[in-house]
Amino acid sequence: MAKINPGFLNLEENYLFIEIGRKIREYTEANPDKAIIRMGIGDVTLPLAPVCVGAMKQAAEEMGVKETFRGYEDSGRGYAFLREAVAGYYKSFGADVNVDEIFISDGAKSDSGNITDIFADDNIVMVSDPAYPVYVDSNIMNNKRVIYADANEATGFSPVVPDGVKADIIYLCSPNNPTGAAFTREQLKAWVDYAAANNAIIIYDAAYEAFISDAELPRSIFCIEGARNCAIEIASLSKTAGFTGTRLGYTVVPKQLEFNDGSNVLKIWARRQGSKFNGVSYIIQRGAEAVFTPEGQRQTRESIGYYMENAQIMSETFSELGIPYTGGTNSPYIWFKCNMPSWDFFDLLLSEKQVVGTPGSGFGKNGEGWFRLTAFNTRKNTIEAMKRVKELLSE
Ligand code: PLP
Repeated sequence: MAKINPGFLNLEENYLFIEIGRKIREYTEANPDKAIIRMGIGDVTLPLAPVCVGAMKQAAEEMGVKETFRGYEDSGRGYAFLREAVAGYYKSFGADVNVDEIFISDGAKSDSGNITDIFADDNIVMVSDPAYPVYVDSNIMNNKRVIYADANEATGFSPVVPDGVKADIIYLCSPNNPTGAAFTREQLKAWVDYAAANNAIIIYDAAYEAFISDAELPRSIFCIEGARNCAIEIASLSKTAGFTGTRLGYTVVPKQLEFNDGSNVLKIWARRQGSKFNGVSYIIQRGAEAVFTPEGQRQTRESIGYYMENAQIMSETFSELGIPYTGGTNSPYIWFKCNMPSWDFFDLLLSEKQVVGTPGSGFGKNGEGWFRLTAFNTRKNTIEAMKRVKELLSE
């Protein structure tokens, strides 16, 4: 009889955002007349930049013409035109990344989960707590031991390098989902030094790098000296260019990165992708290429600016209420203290004010008593939600 991968028996029953979706459905069925404002799942609300739509239309036309039709893309790593555009983008903020170190994918969720495939089961995996749940879930599914680096109120919700604890793989995310905290160069350098000292590999999630406006903060781990010897970076156009439904991400694996036996990480990742992934549609890759043109950058930065103005409105609300929070600058998330179990606050906010957020405890034990709201809604909804939050928290 077929046996289950035992890792799956160690998971929570539902993935966090599926559970939130279930609770919203339950509430809407019972209260069909109540309009909900969704600030829970970090999905964008603005449409794609016109320059991306134009590029995708043109690519679709090409696919309908015999001379320009394209089938499978032979490298499986993404078209050179897009990898070159991504490498140019990295250069623009001082990160040293080569075209042939870039792997195009359908998003950062897939890559951050799939990357666990290439590591042996007996690696010790360190994940910051709280963290984007995919890191823990995918490692548990793949039967790896997960330990945690605390990020709490005392550390400004940035994970600090642990003393005397050894890990082989370390997941870091900056600007952080859920806490909105962004690493300084010094904080990130401390992690790079820790990885070097422990022969560990950092898997660095830069899905929100484009929200960094402070020029002093690193936009990539490859802005840090020594990172090319110990880090893989995963990034995405989902939040930075509104590709949550369009789907495109990329992973950077430096050529010199090695496993402990001296085998080459880039080669192994390419081998894994070669067998299990058949690439992203040509049309979407052309749309993504457009993001990195000057006009694409101008248009996508406009959307980011809009969301960051929402974040400003949200930050002002929590400042006014005198409630401790992080995020809101260099990040589209606000992470605030809700002073009760996070799921209780979720239920209260939904039932009393019809606003949906994400309970902090869903991201780890340090998230208990904290709550995440996203700045990705419309201006009107953001203002209305803040009015309702204010009412609830001043009652
Ligand atoms: N990484 C982080 C930290 C995220 O918050 C998200 C999405 O919310 C992702 C990755 C997933 O991105 P994608 O849509 O590219 O799969």
